[in-house]
Amino acid sequence: MDNFTIAEHFSLLSQLIDINGHDSFKAKNYASAAFTIEKLPVQLTEMGQADIFATRGIGAGTGKKIMELLETGELQTLKEYLNTTPSGVVEMLRIKGIGPKKIHIIWQEIGIETIGELLYACQENRLKLYKGFGEKTQQNITESIQFYQNNIGHFLYAQVLPIEPQVTNYLQQLFGAEQVHLTGSFLRHLETIECLEYVIPLPIATIKPKFNTAQPPQIEEETTEHIIYKLLNGLRLKIFFGQNNWQQKLFTLSCSTEFYNAFTTTYPNYQFTQTQNNFATAFTNNGLHVLPTYLREHATDLQKAAQPIPQLIQPNQIKGIIHSHSNWSDGGNTIEEMIIAAQQKGFEYLVISDHSKTASYANGLQEDRLKAQHQQIDELNNKYPNFKVFKSIESDILNDGNLDYTNSILSTFDVVIASIHSNLKMPQDKAMARLLTAIENPYTNILGHLTGRLLLSRNGYPINHKTIIDACAANNVVIELNAHPSRLDIDWRYIDYALQKNVLISINPDAHYITGFDDVQYGVYAAQKAWVTAANNLSSFGLTAFTNWVQQQQQKRKIN
Ligand SMILES: [Zn+2]
Ligand SMILES: [Zn+2]
Repeated sequence: MDNFTIAEHFSLLSQLIDINGHDSFKAKNYASAAFTIEKLPVQLTEMGQADIFATRGIGAGTGKKIMELLETGELQTLKEYLNTTPSGVVEMLRIKGIGPKKIHIIWQEIGIETIGELLYACQENRLKLYKGFGEKTQQNITESIQFYQNNIGHFLYAQVLPIEPQVTNYLQQLFGAEQVHLTGSFLRHLETIECLEYVIPLPIATIKPKFNTAQPPQIEEETTEHIIYKLLNGLRLKIFFGQNNWQQKLFTLSCSTEFYNAFTTTYPNYQFTQTQNNFATAFTNNGLHVLPTYLREHATDLQKAAQPIPQLIQPNQIKGIIHSHSNWSDGGNTIEEMIIAAQQKGFEYLVISDHSKTASYANGLQEDRLKAQHQQIDELNNKYPNFKVFKSIESDILNDGNLDYTNSILSTFDVVIASIHSNLKMPQDKAMARLLTAIENPYTNILGHLTGRLLLSRNGYPINHKTIIDACAANNVVIELNAHPSRLDIDWRYIDYALQKNVLISINPDAHYITGFDDVQYGVYAAQKAWVTAANNLSSFGLTAFTNWVQQQQQKRKIN
């Protein structure tokens, strides 16, 4: 074991002590020992025990640990720390801009255990409330995490969306537009993207040299049919090459495996006469309506292609911003700024749903501040007569499934969105009991981000989607499709069942800044995969229809 490796052990030990908030004096000692060891002119392995203990900057405690390392190859104390500190927390050491002391706060005080959750907390403006975390730090952490995640090849659909045209254009310049065929998960609008996939029907011997410019992208994998390049921003580029049967390959890649199998089993003699329009003729030759690539997912999609494809929801069919946070809780804008922005973007109404009182980490609203906020909303509604702000709350669903205020307070809201924000690590029975109680509460109108998942970083708590959807149908509760590109929760794969049960979906941005209003588009793309039309979506209701819905919902409060 060389000095560098030994020093690394002590450095990590020092960091883990600080992360855990233990004896900072010890942490300092180990850090300075690491520094000393790295600078030693002689390898420790070549020094005798007496010399090691006599070395300046190495105390008795450190000396003993060095001997332990040299004799056993490991440090027991370090092992124990690594066992008791969540791996996601240790991984945070790789994020530039946060040291062990900040990680301690993030983990122990804010309760965040993975890098992905940390990124989302920054986007929700959550760190600002803690000592030592200003707006600037939050911004820096966001940037370093994105850099880190991209580098390991994880991208959200929303991140790839602006990059794809540049990559396609670049490839078209290298190989000619007619040779470059975009396909795969991006073309199917999947919520996370591992790589941008193309079919380029040219020999690999022709393809590779074209990249030989000053900075050729790094080759990560090469097989007999594809090659994977890693671009400078970390995104993977998967190119299927070769002229053999390339159209067939392209068609296969434009479908999910399930869909492709269903298609080839039902129509074994299918043919297409051209690749244009994503193989439109493969459908029309069999008397089917052409499914866009984002609807080639399930066998049931194929069955639906026997009928004309309905007009699926479009981004310009979102009429109101439902679920948004102002600076009354953890949002970044005033309600007035949000009104002006929403009007400019053509929305007809805004539902202000700040955090409820238990969400103290998000500056949730106590009863007295609620009253003041409602007064302000009344004044603003007078000031902007051509627009409407609805009084709402994103009420925490407490551990027992109750909402966060008394019924008399709850009755002051036009709309109550009920969401789970705490104790996310629940077994399914606990999560279900909590959600079902909230759904049955007559004050609950919309169920917010159903599973609490964060794409690429946190699985949601386990639930039985069908039972939840049945309960929403029985209690006339709308299910949010949270449009934040990291959430997209409810998962589009379960929406079909909700539509069968006549449950409304609501594509909501959960905006914490006015720029977040634009996120509704990602919700729309996910909804399209589930055949959602504007009529299925609450936020597509115009002001009159939405007002009627609010009034109808309030009947529930009276009956109970
Ligand atoms: Zn929430
Ligand atoms: Zn929210």
